[in-house]
Amino acid sequence: MPKNSMKIIVAQTAGFCMGVQRAVELALEAPDKHLNPIHTFGPLIHNPQVLNVLKQKGVTVIEKMPEQGTGTMMIRAHGVAPHAKAQIRKAGFEIIDATCPRVTKVHSIIKKYAQQGFATILWGEADHPEVIGLLGCAGNKGFVADTIDKLRTLPSFEKAIIVAQTTQNTRSYAEVERWAEQKHPHYKIFNTICDSTAKRQAEVKQLAMEVDVVIVIGGHNSGNTQRLAEIVKETGKSAYHVETAKELNAEMFEDASSIGICAGASTPHWIIDHICETLKHKL
Ligand code: SF4
Repeated sequence: MPKNSMKIIVAQTAGFCMGVQRAVELALEAPDKHLNPIHTFGPLIHNPQVLNVLKQKGVTVIEKMPEQGTGTMMIRAHGVAPHAKAQIRKAGFEIIDATCPRVTKVHSIIKKYAQQGFATILWGEADHPEVIGLLGCAGNKGFVADTIDKLRTLPSFEKAIIVAQTTQNTRSYAEVERWAEQKHPHYKIFNTICDSTAKRQAEVKQLAMEVDVVIVIGGHNSGNTQRLAEIVKETGKSAYHVETAKELNAEMFEDASSIGICAGASTPHWIIDHICETLKHKL
């Protein structure tokens, strides 16, 4: 574990982003304000500790949309496709729409251009709920790619837009922009990466260059947290992705004299604080 002289720097951007903060607040107040029982369509965020707190408040997760149901269904910050929203209503649920306004903005861009006959190329993870929701706005001309090789396999479109999943890596999206400028200069490219993601990634890169080791805190299945760990590793520094303080161990800090702490957009402050306290008490 860390030595007495160990320096610990916590990233200013660590913790909930605006969209996640809003969704968690809406979920916490939902049992008192809306028709019960309260459900979320899929886990509200990629953080098991927060999901436990919500479960204790009676907010349950529904993975598959039932044909009929009662109570209230909450749409996550990731958003859903328009047909999925209609399906929730048809099943009989009231809706709390916690779609992040920045994701809603990408929905609007895709819808606007799809109506004018543009194809949509989405830079993101095909199985991510945000991407599935965005794709649902693109009509029958939506395509997803997460590598330049996959982009190369797409047909050449007369009219197309390119948008990114809001939590994509800004560096890799810059490569997409270069590819489009060279191969399809008539495609319209929108920088839809959320500035909260961009700032977090830039700070983590800077932090990694200033310390010996970086602890990246967040759900193991959280894509934006995984990308932070990748960014640290790209700088040549060690990154340890942990969910809670229980996963810290002495080997992580061997030969290190400074530790950086960063966290994904779905990591609550109480977990970040607990990890910092655990490290300080081991100094
Ligand atoms: S990362 Fe950005 S787009 Fe995604 S929920 Fe947070 S604020 Fe919204």
